[in-house]
Amino acid sequence: MFNPADKSRNVSLKVDTFTRMLTDIYTDLRKKEKERGASMSTVRGRVKKSFFRSGLICGEAFGKELVEEIWKGGEDISTQEKLDKWCKFDSDVGFGNFSSNDIKIDSKKHVTSGKIILKNNFLASRRKHNVPHLCDFMVGYVNGVLKKVLDANVVVTHKAKDCIQGKPDKKKECDFYFRRVE
Ligand SMILES: [Zn+2]
Repeated sequence: MFNPADKSRNVSLKVDTFTRMLTDIYTDLRKKEKERGASMSTVRGRVKKSFFRSGLICGEAFGKELVEEIWKGGEDISTQEKLDKWCKFDSDVGFGNFSSNDIKIDSKKHVTSGKIILKNNFLASRRKHNVPHLCDFMVGYVNGVLKKVLDANVVVTHKAKDCIQGKPDKKKECDFYFRRVE
């Protein structure tokens, strides 16, 4: 199937199939790290890092394509519009519902910080607390896209309290806080 928005070939998978694949990779990485004798916290940190890195690579590639190919440089589009367009694009492909909030802009019109909200995040929604948390992939993805869209280095944080996983009645969205770094 083709996505008419960017004319790229897409594949449609059930969310359960995709999260099962990632969960299996997560479990396997954790097992290998444990076999090497790493402590639990080291194991967790390394797996988180791997997920973050793979999300970052995907986010940077997509962000680059958005800016260079879809927006043709994007010089005539305001930063808020760019964020809105990206959020709409990725909401339309089933990640959940993306939006941005609390965007702070300095006197040079640079975005300095803000929040990306993902309602019904497909990586965390309906997942129990005691199964692997896959959101580090999304942290990396958001980081990678923002890096290209804002043309700046950013740090993204997503703490346990900001995550929907394991609390379906209390929380409806994953919140990703970001800030620009030099
Ligand atoms: Zn989350």
